[in-house]
Amino acid sequence: MKAVAVAPGTAESLRLEDVPEPTPDPAHLLVATVAVGVCGTDHEVIEGSLGAPPPGRDRMVLGHEALGRVLQAPEESDLEVGDLVAPIVRRPDPVPCPNCAVGEWDMCRNGLFTEAGIKGLDGYAVERFALPPGYGIKVDPALGYLGVLVEPASILAKAWEHIVHIGTRAHWESRRVLVTGAGPIGLLAALFATRLGAEVHVLDRVTKGPKPVLVRDLGATYHSDGVPEIASGVDVVVECTGAAELIADVLGKTGRNGIVCLTGVTSAGRRLLTSGLARELVLENDVIFGTVNANRRHYEEATRVLADSDRSWLDRLVTRRIPLDRWREAYDPGPDDVKSIIEFEPVPTLAAS
Ligand code: BGC
Repeated sequence: MKAVAVAPGTAESLRLEDVPEPTPDPAHLLVATVAVGVCGTDHEVIEGSLGAPPPGRDRMVLGHEALGRVLQAPEESDLEVGDLVAPIVRRPDPVPCPNCAVGEWDMCRNGLFTEAGIKGLDGYAVERFALPPGYGIKVDPALGYLGVLVEPASILAKAWEHIVHIGTRAHWESRRVLVTGAGPIGLLAALFATRLGAEVHVLDRVTKGPKPVLVRDLGATYHSDGVPEIASGVDVVVECTGAAELIADVLGKTGRNGIVCLTGVTSAGRRLLTSGLARELVLENDVIFGTVNANRRHYEEATRVLADSDRSWLDRLVTRRIPLDRWREAYDPGPDDVKSIIEFEPVPTLAAS
């Protein structure tokens, strides 16, 4: 069967190749891949700046944002043959650390976790894969192919869970929120924010294409003119670009008790905290925190939020649907792309929301 695979650490090693069928295991789900999404992390693995192959191997199947269809399920699983399933990216470390021991592998403390298609584990850009049943999330069939957005949405489910957790250290109410970056993560961050009743502003560089319209259709305000006035006094910033200069511009602009959540991965470099910023963090009770990955609870919340959202809006997030035989195009984003996906089989029909 075919898989999109890469040699992590080696640039230009991306290929469509033949790989063995998954080893039959009655304790596991057998899943046929429906679609796989492409994101910035895939590009980092392809460029060789991130990722590690499974032990003893050079190559790894890519793809961590996926939707599949269950072909075989063990009896004790809550999934049945024919169900749509979103596979989870991370597996707990084998020790396990105190967080992995209680299913909070997204907060793994020793870093020995593995991640499908990223670190030490094959991903899902393959025609069929086996999955331990605890790592598959049932997707509402009404979502159809949009179930491929469950993984990126799980990142925002976690981010917002933690923002609210920090926010409720004191009185919490609907907030003024700034999202930096209108890629898939930024747009999903804005979707979650509007559901919380916040006044939402989204900042990106582009002035044309689908992003400004997608933001406005959420009832949020789009800005493309540098860090806008609105950044001053904002209660929450969800940073989704990873651009160090923009982050530096935004930090220190929040109102008192401000929360800045960093989701974008910045390139490795110098650690810099100015004394002015440190002073402000203290005197204004500000919090800056980073977030990565998601656990089962966040995937479940993500499927609920997506199933409850306007499907025609979600449909417009997926700007390119590319069949497997033209797979390479998916890794070559166009200027107006939000999310590209590779379709491994004809996608289930989309029911109206
Ligand atoms: C994935 C996360 C993963 C992170 C770092 C992101 O693109 O969505 O699940 O933990 O990359 O590897």
